[in-house]
Order: sequence, then C-alpha cells, then structure tokens
Amino acid sequence: MPERSESQSRKLLRRLRDTLAEPGAGQERLDRVTHLIADSMRCEVCSIYLFRDAETLELCATEGLKRESVHRTRMRLGEGLVGRVARTSTPVNTANAPAEKGFRYMVETGEEIYSSFLGVPIQRLGEKLGVLVVQGKKARQFSEDEVYALEVVAMVVAEMTELGAFIGEGEALGALHQQPVSFRGATGQEGAAEGRVWLHEPRVVVTRPVGDDPKVELKHLHKAADELRLSVDAMVSMADGQDKDQSQILEAYRMFANSRGWMRRMEEDIARGLSAEAAVEKQQSTARARLETVPDPYLRDRLHDLDDLSNRLLRILTGQGRDTGAAMPDDPILVARNIGPAELLDYGRRLRGIVLEEGSVGSHAAIVARALAIPLVIHAERITTEALNGDHILVDGDQGLVHLRPEESVAAAFRDKIAMAAAAQSRYAGLRELPATAKCGTTIALHMNAGLMADLPSLVGSGAEGVGLFRTELQFLVRSHVPKRGELAALYARVLDAAQGRRVAFRTLDIGSDKVLPYMKRIEEPNPAMGWRAIRVGLDKPGIMRMQLQALIRAAAGRPLTVMFPFVAEFDEFRAARQRLIDEVEGERRLGHPLPSVLEIGAMLETPSLAFAPPAFFEMADFISVGGNDLKQFFFAADRENERVRRRYDMLNASFLRFVATIVARCAGTGTHLSYCGEDAGRPIEALCLAALGFHTLSMRPASIGPVKHLIRSVDLGELRAVIEAECDKGASSVRPAVMRWLSTQEI
Ligand code: PEP
Ligand code: MG
Repeated sequence: MPERSESQSRKLLRRLRDTLAEPGAGQERLDRVTHLIADSMRCEVCSIYLFRDAETLELCATEGLKRESVHRTRMRLGEGLVGRVARTSTPVNTANAPAEKGFRYMVETGEEIYSSFLGVPIQRLGEKLGVLVVQGKKARQFSEDEVYALEVVAMVVAEMTELGAFIGEGEALGALHQQPVSFRGATGQEGAAEGRVWLHEPRVVVTRPVGDDPKVELKHLHKAADELRLSVDAMVSMADGQDKDQSQILEAYRMFANSRGWMRRMEEDIARGLSAEAAVEKQQSTARARLETVPDPYLRDRLHDLDDLSNRLLRILTGQGRDTGAAMPDDPILVARNIGPAELLDYGRRLRGIVLEEGSVGSHAAIVARALAIPLVIHAERITTEALNGDHILVDGDQGLVHLRPEESVAAAFRDKIAMAAAAQSRYAGLRELPATAKCGTTIALHMNAGLMADLPSLVGSGAEGVGLFRTELQFLVRSHVPKRGELAALYARVLDAAQGRRVAFRTLDIGSDKVLPYMKRIEEPNPAMGWRAIRVGLDKPGIMRMQLQALIRAAAGRPLTVMFPFVAEFDEFRAARQRLIDEVEGERRLGHPLPSVLEIGAMLETPSLAFAPPAFFEMADFISVGGNDLKQFFFAADRENERVRRRYDMLNASFLRFVATIVARCAGTGTHLSYCGEDAGRPIEALCLAALGFHTLSMRPASIGPVKHLIRSVDLGELRAVIEAECDKGASSVRPAVMRWLSTQEI
C-alpha cells in the first residue's frame, strides 16, 4: 500500500472525526460530511443517499448537486448506478458513468454529465443503510486506495447513523430504530404475545470508529487478540479427549483465531485510520456480506465461526459484555439470532414470546418453546439489527408475524386477538373435569405430550388423562454431558410423582436426525431423518439404551411403567428392543430392586413399513402410538423440516386417511390399543376425524386439549365417519371441504 494514499485515508478519517465532533446536528452535520469528502477527494460532487424504506433511496445530502433536490430525489433499489450499489452491496467505480449499463440521468439534481463515478455501500454488519457517491468531470478510474478510503468513510457514516448523529434539529433522516417494522417469519409455536424486547445478545456499539494513533490501536488489537486466543485455547483443552468431532470443530475455530490473514486485514484497516474496534467490525461486515451469498454449508459454518470470533473480540475491545446491566422488562420477548435449548430453559417461563432470526420448527429451541408454551416466530430476518432493548413488540406465533414498535391501531387489534384467545381458554377450562364424550356416546381419551419437568404442571390444569408421549431426548438435549443413570432415575421418578398415578408413556431416546446431542459424536449423513436415529442407535449401541431402561425401571419403583420405542420400521427391531427391556427387568429383579407393578411395552408407528408388519407384531405390542409427524413425512415424501414442502400435504388427504384406516383395522383385529401422538392430534378438525376413524386415544399439546374436547363433545362421530367414507368412496382427493361443510351444519 503506497504510503501517500495511506496517510491520505488517515487524514480524511481524522478530518471526518473532527467534523463530526463539531457542534451541530442533523442536516448541517451531514452537509459538512459531503463537503469534506468532495474536498479531500478532489471531486466536484459528493452525495449521500439513505434508505427511506427497504426499497427506496433518498438523496439526503450533497455537495455539488442542486440543493433543492435534497430529500426530493428518490430512486428505487436497483435503479441507476446508485441503486445498483445498494442492491449488490458492492462498489461501482467507472471513468465513464453514462456508458455504464443502467445509468440514469437525474435531471432534477441539475446534474451535469460527470464522467467519473465511485459509489460505495453504507452498511453496518450486513444491514444496508445507503450509498455514498463521489463524481468528477474528468474521466478517470478511482484508484484502489481511493475506493478503500471511501469505503471506510462510508463505514464511519454508518456507525454515526446508528448512533443517531444525523438526527435532531434539521433532521437529515428519520431516526433509526424508531419506525414501526413488521417481520414475516414462520411459526415455531402458536400463540400471541405482547411485550418488550429483550435482546439475548445485546449489540456491541462502536462509539469510536476513527483511531488517533495507529500504533496505539494496533497494541489494543494485539492485546485483545491474545486474550481471545487464550480463551479459545481454554475451550479446546476443556473439550479435549471428550469427543473427537467436537475437538475438530474447535480446532478449526482455534485456527481462525490464529489466522494471520484475518489479523493482517485488521492491521491494514488500522493503518488506514480506523480504530481497533472499527477494524474488527469492518472485517465482520465483510464476513456477513459473504455469508449471504455463499451456498456451501462448510464455508458458511466457517464464516459463522468468524462472525462469532469477531463478536468475542469486539466485546473484549469495547468492554461491552453480554451483561449490560440493563434490567429485564416484566414482559420480556426474547429476540436472538438463535439460542440453545439450555439457555432458553434458563430464561424459563419468564419469557412471554421468542423471536429468532434462524432456527427451525424441529430445532431444540423450538421444542423447548413448545414445552413451555411460549409463542415462537422463527426466520424473522434481521430483527436483531432492528430491535433495541425495551422496544414494544407483538409476536403472532399463529401467523409467523412480528410487529416491532407497532402503530397503536395494530396493537389494539392484536390485543383483541389475545383477549379472544384468553376468553376461549377460560371457556375450555369449564370442560376440564368433563370427559371427551361425543354425542354418539363414544369417549375419547385425551392425553398430553411432554418432555421436560416444565411441562408437568399442565397435566392437572389441562385436564389431560395422562402423558401419551414423554419425549425423553429433551432431557439429553438440554444438557452439556450425558446424564448419569441416577440423575435420570430421579428425574423420571419426579415425572411419575407429578403424574399422580396417571399413565405416562416414556418414549426411549429419539436422537439422530435433527436431534443431535451436543456431546455425541456427530455423524454426517446425507439424509439424517432417514438415517441412523432413534431405535436404530439404541439397538446398535446398547449402552445408553440399557442405562435409560434401568433408570426407568428404578424410577417406577413398584409403580406401573409404560415404555415405547420410537421409529420402529420392522417387527424384529421391536422384538429385540422389547427383549432388552425384559432383560433389564430381570437384571433388576436379580439385584433385588422393586419391579414395575405393570409393564406395558409399545411401539411408535412412524414408518409406513410398520403398518404392514406381520400379525405377530400387532399381537406382541401392548399398544401402538402413531407418530404422525414422521409418518406423514415418509408417506408423502415431504420433509417436515423443509418450509417449502412441509405444509403441502394435508392430513385430511383421502390417501392418507385410507392408510390410517388400515392401521386402525389391523389394531382392531388384534385388540391392540392404538393412539395418535403427532401434532395433528392437537388440531381440532384433524383430531375429530381421527376419532371418527377409530382412534380412541389422542395425545397432544396441553393447550389443545380444551378446543379438541369441546369439538368432540359437540358432534356425532358416527355421522362424521359416514361423511369421510362417502367422500373417499366418491374419489375426492381431500375430505376437508366435505368435513367443513358438515361441521357448518352442526351446533358447535
Ligand atoms: C411424531 O413423529 O409424530 C412424533 C410424535 O415424534 P417426534 O415429533 O418427536 O419425532
Ligand atoms: Mg417422530
């Protein structure tokens, strides 16, 4: 890098810092910035365009163009060269602007024909704020160092914008983080909540973008980097020997922390006038921008590593830890890029709602949110850059919508929705002690799904007759180590105590697929949902399964025990797993421990193949529980985790119902008890159809028990069955329209 231009960019930054430090606000300040840049870069024109909304850029300050056009000239994202810089987030540098594709002559600015054009994006950590442009009459290409200088100036402008330097008297732009914004994400857990934002990881604010003395800044950077490396080394040595794969991941992380390339780029930024923290943030911005365009999962992981390391380094440099001293509001809505299950459990029921930028329906965080019945919206892109601690926020988990700093009319409508849901819930509470007996006299047993101790208080409140599915893997997922047998036995005993004699169907570990234990060796599989998961792992690696079965027997301590095995695809698997349980009971007997008073052993039917197992399977199983979430994904070949396809196929599709009816008939033939525990059992219309088809036990989220019971009590299931059968016989592809028509004639 030539020494002359190096000092030029430093000089420019220093002048900029002094200019920004002068008194004055808003427009005046922004005008001074454009004047300064035009002067320093010896250009006739310097203009700053900022986003008015996500699609529109507005000329907010200029040196050289007509003053009247300020705040009047607007362009759409992608329009003209300025719009192109904004859309692509990359500079445009040309000696002959009018010859460039997409060039637009803006007559209202009184623009003469300027030949040279250099535009760079104004952005902060991947958030687009605007475009900074210099133009000149002389046809010349800007040098690499000039491009760099303008980029760092743009970055400082972005920081100052974030800090609100251009608002106030004579506002140059609307204040950031004050407008209402809505986010369309996806449903993670239904329900609606109103509250105040609580950022899981408060943003680090760089208040000092320009460095005084590069030597001092370099010293800061190196000292912080040493501290960072030490902390990463400590992480690696803590994990040493525990898990080879995890160590490998951490090694890659350590490699990054020691990366010369990363360090060198930050040193160069400092040499060009940035403060140490601004240099880190500049590299972090670059990594984030790349993240948006890189499809390769390995590279994306590495860029995530870099982002994470940058955050750590920034926190060391600025002294801004996670704990900012701010008090959590009384009605916190957690906003985060992502969060682990253990961290979420730490917050517990204090949270009113959760909004994540990432996550997935089957992610551990979503599972915990569901267990805690906290409304959750996932894929709310960029919300962590927009939301500030304490902002008013509405979370609509049903629609996957979030309203940040909403208008009062939106908030009022939203409150009506919450009030209506609460009124319905209190109506359902009146049904708590009543059975789910339909008008035809058939009674359906309604159970709840659970997986955490946090679920158990709902058992009494919801009116559930028992726990139809206890997902034991959740206890494994929220820990950072394999739980010990004693720990598990104590926990299962507490579950049985809380159930007060009601039946609890413990499902053995369903790990693998999306449920990866943090301390288990991760196995890369091309399609993990169909891979080495659940009972397949249990049978191949019997250690954990044995330990879990022993813990269950000890927890029962003479009480009845119900165990079911997940993801059974063929009779032999069930027979082998069942035998293991019987062997463990025998082992416990030999040790003189009390044995379960009754032992029920069942299978989850989650793969189509099991529906066609030999009759001996149906005879041997004490009960069968249909895991409709998995069964549906394999029946329709539609990934339950894939937002593009997961809602495409309806449970009320006639083909699926015919298939389900086959399972009902086979169980009826052998007198095998049958239940349904997939999510559809908690959807009132679907639950009704399952009951009509012959499922006498349904297991669902506790909040669904009231609505499902209410509907069952209102209808004649025999009549509904006739409607479904007639529709299937007619060759309809879905029975939903006919069921809805029939329901509209019922008194509900
Ligand atoms: C299912 O597959 O329907 C089920 C209940 O199990 P899980 O959702 O835990 O896979
Ligand atoms: Mg399943």
